[in-house]
Amino acid sequence: MGSPFNIALSDWTAPVSQLTHSVAEILGRPGEYRDFTVRGTLAGVRTPLARVDGAPVTADLRAESVVEGILVTGAVDAMAVLECARCLTDFETAVPLERVCELFLAPGHELPAAEDAYEISGLEIDLEPLLRDELVLALPLNPLCATDCRGLCPQCGQNFNEGSCDCTEDDSDPRWAALAVIREQLEKTQG
Ligand SMILES: [Zn+2]
Ligand SMILES: [Zn+2]
Repeated sequence: MGSPFNIALSDWTAPVSQLTHSVAEILGRPGEYRDFTVRGTLAGVRTPLARVDGAPVTADLRAESVVEGILVTGAVDAMAVLECARCLTDFETAVPLERVCELFLAPGHELPAAEDAYEISGLEIDLEPLLRDELVLALPLNPLCATDCRGLCPQCGQNFNEGSCDCTEDDSDPRWAALAVIREQLEKTQG
């Protein structure tokens, strides 16, 4: 297989991403489209409790030629490492993105200043910035390892999913713990 086009592009200064795709066959021919799949890895996509770091990413996309450039639509699948917001345990999960839809502008076309678009460089689209932007938005803000995750003991840090601890003879509610500290201080000042 492979592209029937032998594309001679000027030397890339940036390392060529595995996530680029040639649009030579359809660029400038509005209405034409190609379906394609790109696979690669992405590193350094992070939110406070989630990251895609060197994990495989697969994107099943359609590139459609439009007057302004190339419209990219489709779905993306990436593996992310999430940190449970309750028990702080790392776990891996797939982050599916069902509806990607972004425009890559052809040279000489512009959008109103307020709107963002990606740009076609040469005869290729580089999907990496698009995938990064979309994935950051798709990563969960409040991930849980399980909906019934029991969290950590606020006193000793014991993971309650793995077992109990000895701190629980009293009430383990942290609000009571705060009151206990106040009571202790009062007792001290009263001597
Ligand atoms: Zn958890
Ligand atoms: Zn404890």
